[in-house]
Amino acid sequence: MERDQSKILISQEELTKRVRELGQQITRDYAGKELVLIGVLKGAVMFFSDLAREIKLPIVMDFIAVSSYGDATHSSGVVRILKDLDEIIEGKHVLIVEDIVDTGLTLNYLVDNLKSRKPSSIKICCFLDKPSRRMVDVKVDYKGFDIPDEFVVGYGLDYAEKYRNLPYVSILKPEIYENNR
Ligand code: 5GP
Repeated sequence: MERDQSKILISQEELTKRVRELGQQITRDYAGKELVLIGVLKGAVMFFSDLAREIKLPIVMDFIAVSSYGDATHSSGVVRILKDLDEIIEGKHVLIVEDIVDTGLTLNYLVDNLKSRKPSSIKICCFLDKPSRRMVDVKVDYKGFDIPDEFVVGYGLDYAEKYRNLPYVSILKPEIYENNR
């Protein structure tokens, strides 16, 4: 696996520290409120589980799985729900936990979809952001790190279902995915 990576972008120490800070901020902001944390499968799974443990409030956890049509490294904006929420979120404070916002198309769709279920509030917490690639305006309320326009893997993020279990974020060598672009 290590041969396929060109450089570690965010080390395990750096991301642990940042996730703790986000958890503390969310704990302060939602004090006294009931929070539903919604993880977007599968990419957000590591971030979700670390973040949840840093939020010192009673939370409800739920998950949604989406697939965006497109090729291996580019999303098309056409999103399909593969697994819907188990919980009813009407009247609840909802925080979407996502791995990365790139063009913004996936989150834009998700927010619209979840808003139609009438939650009390809806916010976004994203581990990574590639602001230079944005196609639609998405308000990210809590953000781990801004990253450059590189294809990254690790800490939940995959390429062809591989590399999710790396405990850090690294840049994948372009030759690994170039043939599929
Ligand atoms: P968007 O709809 O914002 O363009 O894309 C969001 C989704 O694209 C993410 O949830 C993620 O699955 C995928 N994605 C975007 N950039 C990257 C990247 O650098 N690495 C990986 N592994 N997935 C990415």
